[in-house]
Amino acid sequence: MKRYAFLIVGSGLYGATFAHLSKQAGKRVLVIDKRPHLGGNIYCENIEGINVHKYGAHIFHTNNKEVWDFVNTFVDFNRYTNSPIANFKGKLFNLPFNMNTFHQMWNINTPEEAQHIIEQQRNEIRRCLSNEGIAAPRNLEEQALMLVGTDIYETLIKGYTEKQWGRKCTELPTFIIKRLPVRFVFDNNYFNDRYQGIPIGGYNKLIEGLLAGVEAITNADFFDNRSHWESLADKIIYTGQIDEFFNYQLGHLEYRSVRFEQESLNIPNYQGNAVVNYTDAGVAYTRIIEHKHFEMFGEDIVKCPRTVISKEYSNEWHNGIEPYYPINDERNNRLLEEYKTIAKQRPDVIFGGRLAEYKYYDMAPTIEKAMSTFRTLSK
Ligand code: UDP
Repeated sequence: MKRYAFLIVGSGLYGATFAHLSKQAGKRVLVIDKRPHLGGNIYCENIEGINVHKYGAHIFHTNNKEVWDFVNTFVDFNRYTNSPIANFKGKLFNLPFNMNTFHQMWNINTPEEAQHIIEQQRNEIRRCLSNEGIAAPRNLEEQALMLVGTDIYETLIKGYTEKQWGRKCTELPTFIIKRLPVRFVFDNNYFNDRYQGIPIGGYNKLIEGLLAGVEAITNADFFDNRSHWESLADKIIYTGQIDEFFNYQLGHLEYRSVRFEQESLNIPNYQGNAVVNYTDAGVAYTRIIEHKHFEMFGEDIVKCPRTVISKEYSNEWHNGIEPYYPINDERNNRLLEEYKTIAKQRPDVIFGGRLAEYKYYDMAPTIEKAMSTFRTLSK
């Protein structure tokens, strides 16, 4: 028997959820994190009374009542509803693609008119594809064109997606764009999920709740002394990059990273919305986040005289910067499978979360996965 049942490498949502469940089940668990703080990418820094999402905007949404009830045991959630705005060459559009967007795009007023235009554009694409003998969309461009037609694709998808992923839409997998709803109602809610919000007082409260009473060490890099850390526990819950765990022996998986240019401004309200996407390829950043709008509504916005914004610049990951998005194209998925094969030789290690599973997880599915893995292990 070792000192701990579980060593959890990484204190993001996956690690923190797993730690909480283990502790509740009476297991001894140790969490280590290489950063100077806990919480992984949902960590917030309070700047001038505003919770700033230091590692990118996080909006909690789920259809899963169990997950919603679970997070609400640690912190109450506010009524924030994500309704991003897209800015294309100075013209504003509502997202996700809905009747407001179609009105702004084509000056039409009814679902029938919008459906007619999109259907015409889709038919044109279908005809081109079937002339080439293609039955199903093979890449993100074809998928997007089939979903919303040429105008929306050119204005709101192509530039943004190519900036975010640093690859042509014709080289990207289709599933990325399937995340976005298309609706023929006037509804700017970005998500279809029943439950949505931001923790009142910020995400740190959620992490503090999950890790209450759990032994956790910050500034502790697993790779600085892996034999020491590995010797401490019966099982390791590893939430870092899977390729790094195996010392990149099969090659590097590719990730997209984000650089945040943060500014504190002496005005109460910069852009009137938490999220504004810049969908034109000519603007270097992908979006601007104005953090106070996640947690301040109505008069509270002006009562707080300053504001903090972050411009997001997307770039390719290299050693020394943070990896954010796995790039699940064919090459990387093949390499991932090879890593998963060698991971089977380490039954004492569980690989969980966005980086270790190399999967584009949102927050709620991350929690679900940690819960289900914990349950399977406990059986
Ligand atoms: N997307 C787009 N235009 C937008 C917003 C999103 O084309 O204005 C596409 C883009 O390909 C992106 C994907 O939709 O990668 C998913 O976007 P989402 O905002 O859900 O991603 P995240 O918030 O995780 O970065």
